[in-house]
Amino acid sequence: MAIAPVVNAIRVLERMVPAGDLLFAHDAHDTRSGTGALTVSTMGDRVEDFVAWANEEATAHGLTEEVIPPDPHGNIGTARFRRSLAWHIARRLGGLVALAIQYGHLRTSVSIGYASRSRDGIHDLLDVETARATIDTVADLHDDLEDGLGVSGPAARRAITAAATAVQYTGTVISLRQARQIVANPQLAVYDNPNALLMCVYKREKALCHRDIKDTPSLDRCVSGCGNIARTDQHITKILDRADFLDNRAARVPGPLGDRFRRNAARLRDLAEAHHRTRITLQDTA
Ligand code: SF4
Repeated sequence: MAIAPVVNAIRVLERMVPAGDLLFAHDAHDTRSGTGALTVSTMGDRVEDFVAWANEEATAHGLTEEVIPPDPHGNIGTARFRRSLAWHIARRLGGLVALAIQYGHLRTSVSIGYASRSRDGIHDLLDVETARATIDTVADLHDDLEDGLGVSGPAARRAITAAATAVQYTGTVISLRQARQIVANPQLAVYDNPNALLMCVYKREKALCHRDIKDTPSLDRCVSGCGNIARTDQHITKILDRADFLDNRAARVPGPLGDRFRRNAARLRDLAEAHHRTRITLQDTA
């Protein structure tokens, strides 16, 4: 499992090298003599070449806002990708869950490699990025609640409590010590789950997605009916969009498949109806 840009990049690389060869094989990517894979320093040069090429293209097409600005911290070497890697791991579906499922091998190989080479290894960066992602999620929820947004679901009240807790962290630079406190704070265990169109306000004893006692949910195996589910008005807007989409498809697909689309659309509309009946707002909890 990987996100689409990664899959696309790997497919392009697979076309560039002979079958079974390394994706970054020296022979395929460098005209100079050499064996094995491209070196770290060559990779750094390639990143700089890419920046120059992208900027030439942007300028040639008059897209000046797309120009990649000079980096105040110098060239973008591969070590700089640690932060990007941590950002993606923390914010892509499931955050640390994605780490366990999709990037598990990275944690045990690449990330330990990074960690051992630097005092502020990727494990620390992961804690900081996870804490920032958590705070962003609950801070957005806080702002939306202040604007009158409603929440429904068994975990609705806990979501509102988490949003109130987040206020103390917004607008501040999160230190590593704070990050660890945030990650360990059960009141802040809130995960947006855009694929399931819900928010998971995690309490491990209520979780239906796994049998083991775990500190993080298995968002990719989210179970409807779980006591940790909360849905906002925004989730419901997307749910209704999805219901419309399914009904449109059903109109073009005859037989059992069309019936299935219609049933799923009806189920989503029932969810939306239940939300509007039971939603609570900040005022209801005052
Ligand atoms: S099943 Fe429950 S605990 Fe698991 S991801 Fe879904 S809402 Fe969260």
